[in-house]
Amino acid sequence: MKAYVNDDTCIGCGACPEVCPEIFHMTDEDIAHAIDGEIPSDLVSRAEDARDSCPVDAINLDE
Ligand code: SF4
Repeated sequence: MKAYVNDDTCIGCGACPEVCPEIFHMTDEDIAHAIDGEIPSDLVSRAEDARDSCPVDAINLDE
């Protein structure tokens, strides 16, 4: 599973890196960015929590 942030939709609220900082971080432009590689299996649940915490549905998790 991989994580993607739609940077056109992200409003920079900072929720996703708070929920799962191993996968998401904020860029200098105050937009969230996800790691490029596969989400480690032990972090999938929190990555899903981060997706669910996004107020604008900007996060997609792809099998
Ligand atoms: S939770 Fe959504 S809106 Fe907030 S920083 Fe993350 S991707 Fe952007």
